[in-house]
Amino acid sequence: METNPIRMCELLVGLPDVNVLGVGDIPGGPLRVHVELRASTVGCPECGVVAHVKDRYQVELIDLPAFGRWTRLVWHKRRWRCPDPGCPMGSWSEQDSRIAASRQALSDRAGRWATRQVGESASSVNKIADELGCDWHTVNDAVIAYGTALVDDDPARYGLVRALGLDETLFVREGEYHRQRFSTSIVDVERGQLLDVVPGRSGAEPTTWLNAQGPAFLAHVAYATLDLSGPYRAVFDATLPYATQVADPFHVVKVANQKLDECRRRVQVEVFGHRGHKSDPLYRARRLLTMADERLVDKGRAKLLGLLAAGDPKSEVATAWHAKEVVRSIYGLDNEIVARSFVERLGHDLQDESSPPEVRSLGRTLLRWKDQIVAWHEAHFTNARSETMNNLIKRTKRAAFGFRSFTNYRVRALLYAGKPNWDLLATVTPR
Ligand SMILES: [Zn+2]
Repeated sequence: METNPIRMCELLVGLPDVNVLGVGDIPGGPLRVHVELRASTVGCPECGVVAHVKDRYQVELIDLPAFGRWTRLVWHKRRWRCPDPGCPMGSWSEQDSRIAASRQALSDRAGRWATRQVGESASSVNKIADELGCDWHTVNDAVIAYGTALVDDDPARYGLVRALGLDETLFVREGEYHRQRFSTSIVDVERGQLLDVVPGRSGAEPTTWLNAQGPAFLAHVAYATLDLSGPYRAVFDATLPYATQVADPFHVVKVANQKLDECRRRVQVEVFGHRGHKSDPLYRARRLLTMADERLVDKGRAKLLGLLAAGDPKSEVATAWHAKEVVRSIYGLDNEIVARSFVERLGHDLQDESSPPEVRSLGRTLLRWKDQIVAWHEAHFTNARSETMNNLIKRTKRAAFGFRSFTNYRVRALLYAGKPNWDLLATVTPR
């Protein structure tokens, strides 16, 4: 057991090669631990001559809480001066990255801890700021500085990918009109790993990203998954011509639900002459309509049929509802050949002239994307995998919340869903 008071204090402070000068205790304020570097002679980095102390100043860093109290590390820094008047070095401040990286407001250990809490343990930046006794921006700056190094300076974060997906993600609504800004997530669909995020939802950025991965990476991608979006299809046509394109089932069903919704709104106006009010039968049916049929209990189904009888005289909404359910049933088929003929027949049937226009449009979409829709059956993506993907997408969207700067959003999303190697955190140099 250590009983020397100086050593005891050094042990508690836990930093290498520093003298603890004193501890400030203002009631109600954080604990202030004053330290200096132990080395009292240093050579000029330019010419090697023993340097002189020019002056001293203090830098206050936010450190990890000590014994339940907010703590500040007050670093008494020396400014050194080369005594040789002919030396170009002039004067410089002492640095020690074990205490704090230059320009960081957090001590090095606090910065790494905060990065891990936010990235790996999914704590909110606000919570960490509360624990350290500082503001949101101070913590966020540290997380971005260490996090950028962790995700961008690790060439082994992801390797070859067999199933790659593109997914559009809304990451901010900004300005007084809440203008939406989108990004594209690039995902390893098989492992459930976010590979990267690029700005926008056009094809240009994903194309640049894919080409930068090199021919070996591109040649390894066997499956390319996408929503029913023309730009992403063009990206894959150009960069991954040999990969099988697979339409994401979630987006296929989403299109069917969108068409159903359009149909309900149109019939509402045609029958009642106004947009849906909360007393209108079709408006009251809107949630039941998009719910999966097997999740409707008998009472719910009876209610839905009653509402349709009251508000859908030509059975147009009922037809669109049925179409949506049939589209969902595509994913209950377990055979690729059966699925192909099913989708082809469904695409044609929905375009029957007796169908409402929204349902005919759905039929055209199914035929336009039939190869990609049926490829899902060939690729044998399991439900477990879709679960992983749903979790990944949820995590990415959660990370997106409230970010104005794309760069910040990208790093946060990758820390959260990009499976960084947390063992490297101790070794990275913050940016
Ligand atoms: Zn010098």
